[in-house]
Amino acid sequence: MTFPPELIALLRGTVKPVALTGAGVSQESGLRTFRDAQVGLWAQYKPEDLASPEAFRRDPKLIWDWYAWRREAVKAVRPNAGHYALVEIEKLVPEFTLITQNVDGLHRMAGSNNVLELHGNIQRVRCSECYTFAETWDDDTGSVPRCKLCGGLLRPDVVWFGEALRREQLESAVEAARMCDAFFSIGTSGVVQPAASLAYAARNRGAVVVEINAEPTPLTVKANYAFQGKSGETLPELVKAVWNL
Ligand SMILES: [Zn+2]
Repeated sequence: MTFPPELIALLRGTVKPVALTGAGVSQESGLRTFRDAQVGLWAQYKPEDLASPEAFRRDPKLIWDWYAWRREAVKAVRPNAGHYALVEIEKLVPEFTLITQNVDGLHRMAGSNNVLELHGNIQRVRCSECYTFAETWDDDTGSVPRCKLCGGLLRPDVVWFGEALRREQLESAVEAARMCDAFFSIGTSGVVQPAASLAYAARNRGAVVVEINAEPTPLTVKANYAFQGKSGETLPELVKAVWNL
């Protein structure tokens, strides 16, 4: 793939780029999206029946089992070349912020350090009462594990339907988008707010906006550069072209 020389030059001079990633990046690793993962016995449920505070209150065991099943699915996949290209960018520029809407933890698994997980991470578990994180828990009792401090039920540390994004995460993401000199929108449909607005915040402040996605999105016509294809192919090539790797 050849990239416009002016894009190469712009990116070569970038000192604080930001990348926003979405489900497309995980799908390239073979991971199903939330809805696509609802097969077998899970197919009978509406998404909000498996991912809302009401559903957890009603049937905590059902929700716990659904997330245990999704954690197992993540164990079966590996980060792809797109994930690793983002790890490279983090090493190559002075300040890089990775913002993801994905909850699978694949960016951290690949080696990215500065990651804002807007919707949480299914690999992390916390108390539903006192918010204490649990590093380990007993999964063999047949019931939902409890918090060692207060006895509250443990739950995945993800943002459910009807829940607000964690404020400090969102504020950090907005700040990074406003201050960046290059913004990559990767594998995301660009319709889920507030993540979708980050690209526009960057663009309005003069950052170059680069989209990489399998199909056109509302951002495509607004981005400075848009590439249709797999991030696992386009991103490594772009990194190679810009930084001569
Ligand atoms: Zn607790």
